[in-house]
Formats: sequence, C-alpha cells, structure tokens
Amino acid sequence: MKHWRRLERELDCWETPPTLWWRDDDATAPSAALEQLLQLSDRHAIPLHLAVIPAHSEIALAKRLSRSHLTWVLQHGWDHQGYAGPGERKRELGGPRPRPEILQQLRQGRERLQQQFGPRALDILVPPWNRIDDDLLTLLPALGYRRLSILGPRPMEPEGPRQINVHIDIIDWKARRFAGQEAVIHQLVRHLEARRLGSVDATEPTGLMTHHLDHDDACWDFLADLTGALGDRVRWVGGRPCWTAERRLRSIA
Ligand SMILES: [Zn+2]
Repeated sequence: MKHWRRLERELDCWETPPTLWWRDDDATAPSAALEQLLQLSDRHAIPLHLAVIPAHSEIALAKRLSRSHLTWVLQHGWDHQGYAGPGERKRELGGPRPRPEILQQLRQGRERLQQQFGPRALDILVPPWNRIDDDLLTLLPALGYRRLSILGPRPMEPEGPRQINVHIDIIDWKARRFAGQEAVIHQLVRHLEARRLGSVDATEPTGLMTHHLDHDDACWDFLADLTGALGDRVRWVGGRPCWTAERRLRSIA
C-alpha cells in the first residue's frame, strides 16, 4: 500500500490534474485480450491508442474498432521483424537494412492503416521495440508523420517529428510477467515528479505503455486498480481532436 500512498502524495502536489495518455502495442486482430482492454478504456472513458502492426493488421480489427469511439490507431512500424548489426539490439527501423527499403515499407504501412481505419489512424509512428536509428528521424516528416512515440522523456529539441512518448512499462520482459506494483508506480511517480520539478519537458503527458496480448492476470488486475485509483485526479488525453488542438496552439505560440 505504501506505493499507492506515494502516488497519492505526488498527485497532491499538483494544482491541476496532470495529463496522462495510454498506448497499447502489437494489435493486429480482435481477441479476448483486446476486449478486456477496450472494456477498461470504456469504463473510465480513457482514450486508447493502439499501435497496430500494418503488415498483419486484419480488417476485422477495423470493424471491431468502428464501435469504439475512444480508440485511435498508431503505426507500429511495418511487420515487427527484428534486424540487428553485430553487437546491436534488434530493431526494425534501422540497423543494417537499406534505407529505401525501410522507407518504402513505412509508406506502405501508413497507406494500409489509412485504408483500413480511415480518420481513426493518426500520423504517429511507434517504432517496434521503441527503437529507431537517428538518421531515419529527419526523414519521417516527409513521409507524413507528425509525431513519433518511443520510450522515455522526450528531448526538449528533438530531431525529426515531435515526440509523444511512453514512460511506464508494466511488463518485466525478462520474466515475461507483470513488473510489480512497486516498480510500475515508481515509474509513474518518477515521471510526474520530474515534470513538476522541471527536469523534463513538463508539457509531455506521462505515457502508460501496455501490451494486451502479453498481459498476465496481475497486469490486468493492476490496470483495473490504477485506472480506478487515478479517477479524476489525472486528465487522460489523446485522440485526433487532442493532438490537433495541441499542434494549433503550438503554431500560435
Ligand atoms: Zn511491439
């Protein structure tokens, strides 16, 4: 319980509720896990951003999402294949692959999502494994991406598109299970505190990253507890109206 108290103490320090956003990765098709996710988003009216893998995305997913007005689609690379040069960690967007091939696949993926999901598909790229090589960043705006979402506080002056990142990962990937209340609440409090104290960009919403297909029961229990506990003490943001409005404000400023 002391972790939850720590979260409450942090929220007490905010004069207005801090902004949060929710990104869930690796969607391709309807499933029982997806239903559970959509229910959670519905229950608390939280906008849900699904990072969909274009190469494997099924039209049945678009059909299912058409009944959910709170769900948005982001582009999760092209086919989620890992490549790596010697000594590198695997990545789809970068590594030893020829750049024209990567860009062509991204273009194809973008078109496919737009065809399947229409205006629900946003101009946001989510690189698989949250990794993308630096030389690709500056090429993204020409492909039509307005935003990029990776892991960690966004840089104040980024190369390439503006970032809208995630900061909380609920899974311990080595053990492939829930990372535990303490570890997850720690990530949340740490980012909120850094925003409040100005050591990171305070205007970046704190991003929750989930992977519905990989959740064990403890992940689901925690998400139900967290979304319930946060209630109206935070402001969940997202979706086309929200990101568009933010861009307009920035162009005025
Ligand atoms: Zn992924």
